[in-house]
Amino acid sequence: MWIRIRRGTGLARRRDRARHALGRHPRRLVVPRLWRCQGGFRDGRGRARVSTSAPHAIAIIGSGATGYTAAKVLRAEGFTGSITMIGSEHAAPYRRPTVSKELLTGTKSIEQVQLGSAIDGVDVRSGVTAVGVADSTVLLDDGDPVPYDALLLATGSRARQLDLPGHVFTLRGAADVEPLHADILRTRSLLVIGGGLIGCEAAAAARSLGAEVTVLEAAAAPLNRIAPAAVSQMYVDLHADNGIAFHTDVAVTDLTEQGDGTSLVTAADGRSWSAGTVLVSVGSVPNVELGAGMGLEIGSGVLVDAGMRTSTPNVYAAGDVAEVPNRLLGGTYRSEHWNGALDQAARAARSMMGVEPGDLDVPWGWSTQHGVNLQFAGWTRATDEYVVARGSVADRHFTACALRDGRLVGAIGVGYPKDIRQVRAAIATGSPVQRDQLTEAWLDGPQAVVR
Ligand SMILES: Cc1cc2nc3c(=O)[nH]c(=O)nc-3n(C[C@H](O)[C@H](O)[C@H](O)COP(=O)(O)OP(=O)(O)OC[C@H]3O[C@@H](n4cnc5c(N)ncnc54)[C@H](O)[C@@H]3O)c2cc1C
Repeated sequence: MWIRIRRGTGLARRRDRARHALGRHPRRLVVPRLWRCQGGFRDGRGRARVSTSAPHAIAIIGSGATGYTAAKVLRAEGFTGSITMIGSEHAAPYRRPTVSKELLTGTKSIEQVQLGSAIDGVDVRSGVTAVGVADSTVLLDDGDPVPYDALLLATGSRARQLDLPGHVFTLRGAADVEPLHADILRTRSLLVIGGGLIGCEAAAAARSLGAEVTVLEAAAAPLNRIAPAAVSQMYVDLHADNGIAFHTDVAVTDLTEQGDGTSLVTAADGRSWSAGTVLVSVGSVPNVELGAGMGLEIGSGVLVDAGMRTSTPNVYAAGDVAEVPNRLLGGTYRSEHWNGALDQAARAARSMMGVEPGDLDVPWGWSTQHGVNLQFAGWTRATDEYVVARGSVADRHFTACALRDGRLVGAIGVGYPKDIRQVRAAIATGSPVQRDQLTEAWLDGPQAVVR
């Protein structure tokens, strides 16, 4: 349930603001319980677990999965100081993956997808944007300052735009859904520029609403950042079976609004398509600007260590905005998936309390299109060597393991979520797995820890 509380009329309280009592249905979080005691925190057996320099006032910028989970874990771990969570969206924290699925099809309402669980005493500022950070204070666009002694940047990403004339839609948050949904119902035709996961999900959702749907993909195959050619083709076929026209190798160069209200989209090679509604779904851009303004080290995201610590003391970043180290393959990466956001948020919370959070999970994500649930894990590329260890891609029921330089680096599959957990656990151990070991027996074997 969401409530509105009126604040006092002092200088810093001059504006009424929505305050969210964070829901009623706690999701179970498996975190060790810590108890606040004099000078720090203790676990259930009275052992000191965290440093005595734990912060007293934590500010979280971003109220998506990362911000929300961090606040929840902080309280679950026994943090009793103040937590202020600032979010520019008006909606209460919700499950963003539903934006291109249940929310767009209209099968669920925003209330049904809220991340609703009670978090004691979290001051949630919704519909407010943090515009700067200086002198350990977050500056808000309504003029209110939020002082902190630890800060979490959980600002996520925004939809990448294409420089096209004319009206197009993008899809990132709950506020994008209603106008797009209404336009699809009005025009009954959707053209999606971008055949990535979100574009494909939106295409499937629009099809289920009865629209004519066309997808244009710049690459030679859809999903080719994470999937081998056979799986990409499986997706083209899946969409074709559901009446969606899928075109690859399309470099969109122009969009013209026509007299009949439709848009004509033209490609560099002269091909063109027209549709009533155009959705641009060409990836995301991390919201690093606040971090950059603070002088944090920025790569493709805000650079952090495994404890989500940025280059500045007491400032943390997690979720889509963070660029984390890859302890197994070297280098860094941004997770950009739901479970990565939850894992990193929990780590950031523990770090803030002085608890070393250990190794990052092997990342994984999922996508649901036309009722087919794809899961993927690790750091796969189209160029990896894939071994179908169970089932068959043609049957749309399979687990394919990815090897690079003879090393297990990930998996992708449909219908066998336990296999994905098995592969993640095996990757996490870093122990070598030979190509000919990758069989159903290995996937069913006892060697991996399934979480
Ligand atoms: C349409 C869609 C479908 C998806 N489907 C899947 C899926 O099926 N499976 C999967 O694994 N992952 C999926 N994802 C990815 C997953 O949702 C994200 O990885 C996850 O939500 C990231 O959470 P986050 O909290 O880090 O960032 P976000 O969810 O982006 O939240 C960041 C929040 O910070 C706010 N913010 C930004 N800047 C400021 C500021 N200056 N002041 C105040 N607030 C600010 C933003 O408005 C936003 O509310 C999907 C993503 C999208 C967009």
